Amino acid sequence: LCTNGRHMSYSILNIKYDKETFEQKKREILASHESIEQAKKQFEELKSQSIVKYARQTKCHNVTGDYMFNCYDGIRLFDTSDSKNCSYMADAMDVKDSMDCNNFYIKCEFEYDMMGVLGGSKNKHGVYVMWCNNAEYCDSCYNSNDLFGCIRLNKESYSILNKKYEKEEYLKLKEQIIESMKSDGTYGQFFPPELSPFGYNETLAKEYTPMNREEALARGYHWQEKNTGTFGKETMSEENIPSFIEKTPDTITSEILACNECGKNYKITQAELDFYKRLNIPIPHKDFECRHQDRMGKRNPRKLYDGQCMCQTENHINHEGSKCSEIFKTTYSPDRGETVYCESCYQQEVA
Ligand SMILES: [Zn+2]
Ligand SMILES: [Zn+2]
Ligand SMILES: [Zn+2]
Repeated sequence: LCTNGRHMSYSILNIKYDKETFEQKKREILASHESIEQAKKQFEELKSQSIVKYARQTKCHNVTGDYMFNCYDGIRLFDTSDSKNCSYMADAMDVKDSMDCNNFYIKCEFEYDMMGVLGGSKNKHGVYVMWCNNAEYCDSCYNSNDLFGCIRLNKESYSILNKKYEKEEYLKLKEQIIESMKSDGTYGQFFPPELSPFGYNETLAKEYTPMNREEALARGYHWQEKNTGTFGKETMSEENIPSFIEKTPDTITSEILACNECGKNYKITQAELDFYKRLNIPIPHKDFECRHQDRMGKRNPRKLYDGQCMCQTENHINHEGSKCSEIFKTTYSPDRGETVYCESCYQQEVA
């Protein structure tokens, strides 16, 4: 529960203790549901006043985004590592010379507008394209090259709508289709949202780019109206959930609990109970989805704001005698409480 520290030890909420007191206090915090919730609140309070770096980036050069490692030349990279000359990427690793891709891994290059890719090059506007080259508007194709509008092909080539052609014929027909798509304005766009079998609210998109029902429908996305799970079937109320894991009987696995946030029923499996016991963590009071949302809430959104270093210290080498004037793109919105520093000031202050 510490922040802005380096070379710290035996500390809780940035307060240093001797080893025995630290162990004792840690045990007290982890002992019950109430004490953990209390400590979480105190930690959020501490974090909201801490100094943060404008972006979580290490070994990067000339990039904007967040959660980046070893990226070189790029705009709006999120959760991306080992990328070179890539822009508008999320969840990418070991890729270069590509744009507008998501879930994009292992030596992809010259790709555009792709989602779910391993390896390959020159693929465009597709989903789940693995180890392919020159695949356009394809879905779930593997180890293939020169495909257009194909689905679930493996080790194929020169195919349009899953039908194989001679190379010259393929190229000619593909050109004709592209011209016709250009004339109706569909070429160059990703698959339309009505083809998605999922509601917007059932997908990761909602976690990274939240939209309410009306906004999603207006943009042509489906919306899952039905609630999954059950409500009101609980056999144990929240106040009867034991606060201490050592006082939790194995019979908890046969009880039905209700989330204290959304009310959805959930159960504790034996493996979960064993895990909580091993780590000395009390039974959660929320269902899986709400716990996941809490964890996601700790991340910054994939949104960039214009920011300026807030450092007022006058003895930093990069702005001696005046406040820092460094500007940057950051995922910390201007209305948040954290003090946002540039790389240089952060290193001097927190290091
Ligand atoms: Zn819930
Ligand atoms: Zn600065
Ligand atoms: Zn400074």
